[in-house]
Amino acid sequence: MTTTTPNPDFTPIAPIDLGSQYQRLKAEIDERIATVLTHGRFILGPEVAAFEAEIARFCGARHAVGVSSGRDALVIALWAQGIGPGDAVFVPAFTFAATAGAVVSAGASPVFVDVDPQSFLMDPDDLEKAIERTSARGDLRPRAVMPVDLFGIPADYRAIQAVAASHGLSVVADAAQSVGGSQDGKPVGSLAPVTATSFFPTKPLGAYGDGGCLLTDDDAQAALFRSIRVHGQDGDDEQRRKGMTGRLDTMQAAILSAKLAVFPDELDARERVAQAYDAGLGDHVSVPFRPAGTRSAWAQYTIMSDRRDAIEAALAEAKVTARVYYRRGLHLHEGFRDHSDGPGSLPVTEALAGRVLSLPMHPYLTGAEVDRVIDVVRHAAS
Ligand SMILES: *Cc1c(COP(=O)(O)O)cnc(C)c1O
Repeated sequence: MTTTTPNPDFTPIAPIDLGSQYQRLKAEIDERIATVLTHGRFILGPEVAAFEAEIARFCGARHAVGVSSGRDALVIALWAQGIGPGDAVFVPAFTFAATAGAVVSAGASPVFVDVDPQSFLMDPDDLEKAIERTSARGDLRPRAVMPVDLFGIPADYRAIQAVAASHGLSVVADAAQSVGGSQDGKPVGSLAPVTATSFFPTKPLGAYGDGGCLLTDDDAQAALFRSIRVHGQDGDDEQRRKGMTGRLDTMQAAILSAKLAVFPDELDARERVAQAYDAGLGDHVSVPFRPAGTRSAWAQYTIMSDRRDAIEAALAEAKVTARVYYRRGLHLHEGFRDHSDGPGSLPVTEALAGRVLSLPMHPYLTGAEVDRVIDVVRHAAS
């Protein structure tokens, strides 16, 4: 008879480990789910308002409105400002498809803006040019800017707000990846007049299904968000405005409260993983740039290398799953063709797409696992 102990060198390393988190929180989460099943208030039950109060406090915002997803949060934010057909919303091209997809769902038109080659964040100078180009063309009305806090790092809100204000545009932050991050000590959720986030399971603060929320200090906007997420009603049966089935459900809110309690500790753990990667990889590949004064939520730890494909293959060989976010700029997606000037129009985005690679990043990575990833990347990079 033989006994086998797993060889640690060949234990797969996943990009994200929700199982370890569940084991840590199992008693708490199971009890909360049982409570919801017992009281039966599955839509806008008491756990939703409780979680909204907690996440508003955590994010330094007066109001949090729980909604059905990150994408719906963006659509609701645009509708609340009366943005729709004929309106231009400026979005970075280097992001997840839902950023520009939400603009299309709202009935408006995305205008793609290039990003900074170091930070991957919306480039304020290219934003200025895109606004001027759109105004000169005259077919769309510039209305809003939607910066993305890519991979967890807050966008350059000071510069973007200045450009937006000079053209009379509003700013809606796509913070789907960045809740838990901060800029100059101010948390994500308090950096823009309206912030949308996602609780998709693999985001830094994730539910066990779809969910999202809107954060704002503006009482009137918050009231509109609450109306739009319930069919455009104001607490009676009358539709007052355009709406949707857009609520965060009670079960997810109950789970999110349990996860939020350990989230600060998890953010510290993510930061420790990032620092270990920085120290081990900084001489071999480009490690993530940290704009002064920002703290990342480390949704992704994304390196850059001309040998990206070789590194990706070596990691796969070593049973380490790394992912390419994002392999193409949104302006090159088939579904956004009508809103794009095609290949060559966003050179930084196009160059990044060929060089980026996101390494495993979650709070439950062990030191030995991080060392294994570093070892493989170092060998493949040189
Ligand atoms: C995940 C994500 C979204 C969409 O969130 P969902 O909850 O999946 O709808 C939007 N923008 C960015 C940048 C994202 O990463």
